[in-house]
Amino acid sequence: MLNELPTFFDIKRYALHDGPQIRTTVFFKGCPLRCFWCHNPEGIGCGLEVVIVQERCIGCQECVHGCPEQALSWDGTAISRDDERCSLCLNCVEICPSLAHEAVGYQATIEEIVGEITKDQPFFDQSGGGVTFSGGEPLAQAEHLLMLLKRCGELEIHRCVDTSGYAETPILLEVAAHTDLFLFDLKHMDGGLHKKHTGVGNEQILHNLEVLSKNGVSVRIRFPLLASINDSAAHVEAMGRFLSGLGSIEHVDLLVYHDLAGAKYRKLKRPDLTDRAYSVTAEIVDRTRRLLEAHGLTVHLEK
Ligand code: SF4
Ligand code: SF4
Repeated sequence: MLNELPTFFDIKRYALHDGPQIRTTVFFKGCPLRCFWCHNPEGIGCGLEVVIVQERCIGCQECVHGCPEQALSWDGTAISRDDERCSLCLNCVEICPSLAHEAVGYQATIEEIVGEITKDQPFFDQSGGGVTFSGGEPLAQAEHLLMLLKRCGELEIHRCVDTSGYAETPILLEVAAHTDLFLFDLKHMDGGLHKKHTGVGNEQILHNLEVLSKNGVSVRIRFPLLASINDSAAHVEAMGRFLSGLGSIEHVDLLVYHDLAGAKYRKLKRPDLTDRAYSVTAEIVDRTRRLLEAHGLTVHLEK
C-alpha cells in the first residue's frame, strides 16, 4: 500500500529525443545525483517547490498580504520567501496578478498520468513511439514507476525508462521486466571522478548496466560529453572497452553539452555551475565518435 501520490514536474508531448519515434515524456521529480550540468534542475529536489520569477513582479505586494504564514516580504525592490515558514499552500501562486510565483512539481494519481499518456496513443500507433519515464530519477519512485509501466503495458504502449542507473539492482530488474528499452546515462568510468561530479560513485551504476546486459535487456547509452570532465581520449577509450563487452547495447547517444539552464537554476535559487567552458569542440565530438565506433559501437549524435 502506497502512502503518497507520486510527484512529477512535467509531461512533454511529441518528444523526438527521448527514445524511438514520437514520445510522451513523463518527468518524475527528485534525483539522488547532483550533476552540475543537469538541464532539468527543477527535477532535482523531491516534492513540491514554489519559486519567484522576479522579472515578472510588479511590486503590488498582494502576495505579502495574502500569505497565511507571513513567509513573504517586500524590501522595496523585490519579493523574497522564507522557505522555513512557507507551508506550500500555493495562495501566492493563485493571488499574484503577474504570475511571478510558480509551483514546481505536482502530485497526481497513476490513472491521471495514464489518462494524459493515452491522449497521445494515436501518435504512438502511427509513429511506433510510446511513453518515456524520465526525471529527475524515475527509479527513485520505483513503486509508482512500476504501476505506470504495468498499466502502459496492459495498453500495449511502448515503454522507455530514462535513468542514471543509480538504484538497487533487484528494483532495477523488477522495473526491467516491464520496460521495453532503457535510456541509461553513463557519465564517467572513474569512480572517484564520478562521485566528484555527480555526488555518487559509479560502482552500482556500472554493475547495474552489466546486469541488464546479461539479462538481455535493450539499452541505449546516453553519454553527456563535457570538456575537461569526460572528453579525454583515455576516458572515451575506457568507456568504449567497457561497453563493447556488453551484449545488449543498441547504440550510444552522444549528448553534446550546452549551458542553457542558467535561468532555471536562478529561479530555483540553486547554485548554477553550468559554464560554456564545458562545451566541447566539433573536433572532440568527432574524435569521441570515432573512438567509440572503433570498439564496434554505433554512435548517434544529439546536439
Ligand atoms: S503579488 Fe506578484 S506582482 Fe504582486 S508583489 Fe507579489 S510577486 Fe510581485
Ligand atoms: S505558498 Fe503559501 S505559505 Fe508559501 S509563500 Fe506562498 S502563500 Fe505563503
